Amino acid sequence: MQVWKFGGTSVGKPERMHSIRQLLTDDSNRKIVVLSALSGSTNALIAIGEAAKANDTNLSMQLLADLRAHYDAFIQELYSTDAGLEKGKKIVESEFGYITSLIGIRPFAPKHEKELVAEGELLSTKMFQAYLAEQGDSSVLFPALEFMRIDADGEPEMAQIETRLTAMLEQHTDKKIIVTQGFICRNPREEVDNLKRGGSDYTASLIGGAIRAEEIQIWTDIDGMHNNDPRIVKRTFPIRELTFEEAAELAYFGAKILHPSTITPAKLRHVPVRLKNTMQPEAPGTLIANQSSDREIKAIAAKDNITAIYIHSTRMLNAYGFLRRVFEIFEKYKTPVDMITTSEVSVSVTIDNDTNLEAITAELREFADLEEHDRDQNIICVVGNFSADKEGIALKVLEAMKHIPIRMISYGASEHNLSILIHSKYKAEALNVLNERLFFYEDTMKDIFTAP
Ligand code: ADP
Ligand code: ASP
Ligand code: MG
Repeated sequence: MQVWKFGGTSVGKPERMHSIRQLLTDDSNRKIVVLSALSGSTNALIAIGEAAKANDTNLSMQLLADLRAHYDAFIQELYSTDAGLEKGKKIVESEFGYITSLIGIRPFAPKHEKELVAEGELLSTKMFQAYLAEQGDSSVLFPALEFMRIDADGEPEMAQIETRLTAMLEQHTDKKIIVTQGFICRNPREEVDNLKRGGSDYTASLIGGAIRAEEIQIWTDIDGMHNNDPRIVKRTFPIRELTFEEAAELAYFGAKILHPSTITPAKLRHVPVRLKNTMQPEAPGTLIANQSSDREIKAIAAKDNITAIYIHSTRMLNAYGFLRRVFEIFEKYKTPVDMITTSEVSVSVTIDNDTNLEAITAELREFADLEEHDRDQNIICVVGNFSADKEGIALKVLEAMKHIPIRMISYGASEHNLSILIHSKYKAEALNVLNERLFFYEDTMKDIFTAP
C-alpha cells in the first residue's frame, strides 16, 4: 500500500480535486489518501477563533460568512450530479453549523480553538470522499480522530496509531481509496488536537510508518525539494535524490515543503518518501530514501525566529559538571536546543521555542553568568555530504558570507550539516550569496571573465 498526501493548494480548487481523483484512479494500487484543508481555510479558521477569543462576535460572524460563501461556491463546481451536490450541501451545512455553535462558547478556550481549526481538514476530506462516491469510485473515509493519537508532550503514540489503523484497515479490505484527514489528532484528554502547522505531511509519514507502506508520496505545488528557498532565491532547482538524513535536516532547518518531523517515522521503517507536484504530475520530483547520489552540497535552508543564549561558567562549578547542568535545565523545560558552540568557559546555544525563556535564564543564572540573549536570529543550514571535505566546502561557505556578521558556526556534528547563525536581517542576502557561490560558481566566474 502507498500513502498519498495532498496539501492545501492541491485541494484548493474544485478542478484540482478533479485532477487528484484522476491521479488516484489512474494508479491501480490501494492507497491511503491524506488531505489538508483547502488553501487559506486553516488561516481563516484561526482568524475566526481569534475574534471569538477577543469576544468580537461581529468580526467572527463576518469572517465565518465569508468562509461559508467560499465553500458554497466550491461545491457547485465540485459535483456533477444533483445527488452529489445535495450530499455536498449537507456536509457544508453540518460542519458550518458546528463551527457556529463552537464560536458562541464562552470562555472560548484553547480546546475550542483546536476543534475549530480541525474543521478545515474535516470539510475537505468529507467533501472529497463524497465526490469519489458520486463518481462511483471504491472509497471510504477513515476519521483521523479515531486512530491518530498524541501523548501529553504532543508526541505521536506510535503503537496506538498502528494498532487502531491496522484494525480499521482489516474491516475495509474491499475499499481501494481510503481518505483521511491530515493534521488533526486526539490528545490524552480525548480532546481534538493537532500536529502543528503544516502537520498533514507528518500525518502521512506516521501512517506510512505505521502500516509499513511501500512509499509515501507528498503531493504539493512545486516539483520537489529545491536546493534553496524558492520564495527568496531566484535560481533554484529541484533535487532528484536525498537521503533521509539530508531531508530531515532540511525539513527541520526550515524547508517549508516538509513539516519538520515528517522524515522521522518514514526513516524508522525505511519507507521511501517521494515529493511530487500536483500541477505537473509527470515531473520526477524528489525521492528521499536510504541512499542518494553523492553530490557534495545538496541544499540550503533557513530557520527563522531563533533566540541565542550566551552562557559563561562561573568558578563555582567543575568544568565537567557545567554542560550537564546547563542541558538539564533545557530538558526540564522541554526546550530543544538547535545549535551549540563552546569555548573553555562559555557555551552558546540556540532555541526556537522561547515559551520558557525567562524561567530557563533565571535557572541558568543560579550558576552561570549570562550575556543579554539575542532574539530574531536565523540559522542558515547547508546540507549535503561533507564526509570527505576535499573541496573545502566550509571555506566556500564562509567565503561567500564574508560580508555578513556571523554569530555562531556549527560544523562536524554530522556528516551532512553546516549551520551558521546570523541576524535575520541578513537572511535573504545569505541565501542568495550562498546559492551563487555553491551552485552557480562557474557561471559567476564566466560572467566575470567575459565581462567587457
Ligand atoms: P502544501 O500546502 O502542499 O503542504 P506548502 O506550502 O506547505 O505546501 O509547501 C510547499 C511550498 O514550500 C512551496 O510552494 C515553496 O514555496 C516552499 N518551499 C520552501 N522551501 C522549499 C524548498 N527548499 N523546496 C521546495 N519548496 C520549498
Ligand atoms: N491545514 C494545516 C495547516 O495549514 C495542516 C497542513 O496543511 O498541513 O497548517
Ligand atoms: Mg505544507
